[in-house]
Amino acid sequence: MAVTRTLEADVLRRQDPELADILLGELDRQSTTLQLNAAENFTSPAVLAALGSALANKYAEGYPGARYHGGCEIVDVAERLAVERAKALFGAEHANVQAHSGSSAVLAAYAALLRPGDTVLALGLPYGGHLTHGSPANFSGRWFDFVPYGVDAETGLIDYEQMRLLARTHRPKAIVCGSIAYPRHIDYAAFREAADEVGAYLIADAAHPIGLVAGKAAPNPVPYADVVCATTHKVLRGPRGGMVLCGAELAGQVDRAVFPFTQGGAQMHTIAAKAVAFGEAAAPEFGGYVRQVVANARVLAAALAAEGLAVTTGGTDTHLLTADPAPLGVDGRTARARLAAAGMVLDCCALPHADARGLRLGTAAVTTQGMGEEEMPRIASLMAGVLRDQVEGKQVREKVRELVTAFPPYPG
Ligand SMILES: *Cc1c(COP(=O)(O)O)cnc(C)c1O
Repeated sequence: MAVTRTLEADVLRRQDPELADILLGELDRQSTTLQLNAAENFTSPAVLAALGSALANKYAEGYPGARYHGGCEIVDVAERLAVERAKALFGAEHANVQAHSGSSAVLAAYAALLRPGDTVLALGLPYGGHLTHGSPANFSGRWFDFVPYGVDAETGLIDYEQMRLLARTHRPKAIVCGSIAYPRHIDYAAFREAADEVGAYLIADAAHPIGLVAGKAAPNPVPYADVVCATTHKVLRGPRGGMVLCGAELAGQVDRAVFPFTQGGAQMHTIAAKAVAFGEAAAPEFGGYVRQVVANARVLAAALAAEGLAVTTGGTDTHLLTADPAPLGVDGRTARARLAAAGMVLDCCALPHADARGLRLGTAAVTTQGMGEEEMPRIASLMAGVLRDQVEGKQVREKVRELVTAFPPYPG
């Protein structure tokens, strides 16, 4: 595998074989089990190379051309490149690429627009809201007064009417749209309208779909939202990190909210890797990739439904889907454990209007590996066999290994 054969890996192996074994073990785990976590992907060797570069040594507080440290002239070029590529990719007037993570991007958006105690409307956590959308265990729930909107109990679709009514009643300072588990496109125009009606900011937390947006397989929130928060490591296939997009009028506010308000020095190796990923996402092949991601997710959703799982909203528009395995006689937690033992890695998630937890899975990683619509029913049938307890876990583990090793994430 190319990544393990690099000079860096050899250096690490000679100096610290204990850690080298851990890295190799993780690469082996990723290459021999099925990666169905909806938030994960395989970055390119070029992204990994930027992450493992000498830029990791550089301190760079501030922004290009206005740093608190000397010697930033070269990393400044890298950050400007990342910013310009992000702006072009998403049609944004301004991009901040320093946010360390998706959560840091959301924190910065709130810091830019809100004061502690402000009222914020967001999708409730039981319906797929993120921790940063008002969880009592998170800064968001402690510092702001969150009012949750939900999804329709029958259809599983966002209840836009309820959201509008709650906005009128509570007159929030901001409305947040975006989710960790919503499988359908979001109607950003409807959110914009609701926000305008009550004079609220619209914050789109597009951590999941932003990669689909880059490849033009999902609606772009940039024309509608005042601030768009995103991750760079999900479908977008870049390094672990975040970014914030906004109009020119909020550029200064957003930049100051990232640094110096909520972060210190920028991670220049990660920013360089983000630039590489934005470059990859701008290439025509990336459009083909995300279209295949969505096609695979649709086939997988239909195949799982045919196996008897209750697929939320009856399918998906995106890379992810959620499903209740209860009809097969097993709850989400048990299902996840059984599937993991058989080499299929995915997450549990809350299911709207249900007590038991369900399963969340996505096709970004397996599609990067080269799997297509043919492989999806195979995956569904392997999953169903394990969940129905018809086939022995060990036997399925072998079949999973056979399937995934035909699609090495880092061939060569
Ligand atoms: C993934 C995600 C985040 C957080 O990203 P981290 O990088 O894990 O902090 C925030 N919001 C949404 C909607 C997400 O899906």
